Amino acid sequence: MKEGITFSDVLLVPKRSTVSSRKNVDISGRFSRGINLKCPIVSANMDTVTEAEMAIAMAQAGGLGIIHRFLTIEEEAAQVAKVKRTENVIIEEPYTVSPRDTIASARDLMRRKEVGGLLVVAEGRKLVGVLSERDIQFHEDGSAQVKSVMSSKLVTARPGITLDQAQKVLAEHKIEKLPVVDANGILRGLITAKDIKKKKLHPDASQDAKGRLLVGAAVGVVGDFMDRCAALLSAGADVLVLDVAHGHTDHVIEAVEKIKKRWSSAELVAGNVATFEGGRDLIEAGADGVKVGVGPGSICSTRIVSGAGVPQLTAVMDCAKAAAKRGVPVIADGGVRDPGDITKAMAAGASSVMVGSLLAGTDESPGLMVVRGGMKYKLYRGMASLTATLSRRITETGVTRRIEDEEAAEVVAEGVESMVPFRGRASEVVHQLAGGLRSGMSYCGARTIAELWSKAEFIRITPAAWAESLPK
Ligand code: IMP
Repeated sequence: MKEGITFSDVLLVPKRSTVSSRKNVDISGRFSRGINLKCPIVSANMDTVTEAEMAIAMAQAGGLGIIHRFLTIEEEAAQVAKVKRTENVIIEEPYTVSPRDTIASARDLMRRKEVGGLLVVAEGRKLVGVLSERDIQFHEDGSAQVKSVMSSKLVTARPGITLDQAQKVLAEHKIEKLPVVDANGILRGLITAKDIKKKKLHPDASQDAKGRLLVGAAVGVVGDFMDRCAALLSAGADVLVLDVAHGHTDHVIEAVEKIKKRWSSAELVAGNVATFEGGRDLIEAGADGVKVGVGPGSICSTRIVSGAGVPQLTAVMDCAKAAAKRGVPVIADGGVRDPGDITKAMAAGASSVMVGSLLAGTDESPGLMVVRGGMKYKLYRGMASLTATLSRRITETGVTRRIEDEEAAEVVAEGVESMVPFRGRASEVVHQLAGGLRSGMSYCGARTIAELWSKAEFIRITPAAWAESLPK
């Protein structure tokens, strides 16, 4: 019988190192064939971990967030769109109004889209003015037309302007917004001072070719999942994550084939699996990344309820063997309790790591903070826990309904609910985790993840050695 091991069964043996400073360690990893990350940490697609706010923070830190799928198709697509609009070099489709629209409708649009200004375009998207919150703040009479208050003295730029040139124009004219128009005066985009400032604040941000933040979105394998994929891709999702608890099934393999057949250039990560064969079959079906982990999650009761699972380090090593030959990255998903577990997961062959509990207690995770006994906490729950399963049923038809006791009793949960300590901003948590990885790599004498794979040596430890490892 094969033996399986996990994070606390091993340590990494320190090696002679030429790395003089941790700053010289490059932790860049991959989430899928086409998605490279300067920081290989990904926030889990769970309803208490990742919606737009978390995905924005993760991408700004050089990682990635995967929007969970327990939303309507429209809601999930809207979360993706929100991330894609956050840090743009050029917003290609800025919000616009017509000069004949009323001030009330312009005000309403600004409020709904959470923006402080709109561009005013006439027929054929010809730019005729700019409307800012300041222009309308004291106009009680919302029925007046936009053209009566908009400012039509315009400073504009031509397509192709660089970020630095745009910054100069904004500074010179002391303005916040720079519309981009072509030779015929047709609106082609918008550059804002806010976006330029954000870009400079996050030099390592994960971004697409247009300078927008990267974001992933989860999909399932039943019902209208193809419609969901279509909506997420058109909202700008950079990678789809086909995520089910047991990913090594005919159902999942067929879904991977179907998605890749329809959208061959879309990035698709599939999972979860925990064996060489599981990794191999998903990749052969077309997956661009394999998510590994059956049962390691901190809120997971799969192994207790079903008896199935593979200790996480063994699972990562086995899947990585199948994936490495095929040039596909493996994502170690679940069970990261300490920063050192990330180094171990990467050393075992992962190209990135998915984290739930360590990020669930941050400002950016969905849900409210609660205070108990003077301590701050946030709710964190498994997606197969009783309350997560019931919440989905309560809202699945779009109409809130009552769940009777008998129906609740039928649910066989494979996850639990918990409270995790409040940890402040996600960027700070990611900074700590990335720092641990850098440090671990320098102990292994590795400057890159590829070097870590070749140089890392694990040593099996006893429970007494693990006890010795913990701060007393
Ligand atoms: P954590 O980082 O140890 O908290 O693990 C997070 C991972 O647990 C997620 O990314 C999922 O793969 C997994 N997970 C989420 N919900 C459940 C559940 O209800 N049961 C089992 N595993 C879960």
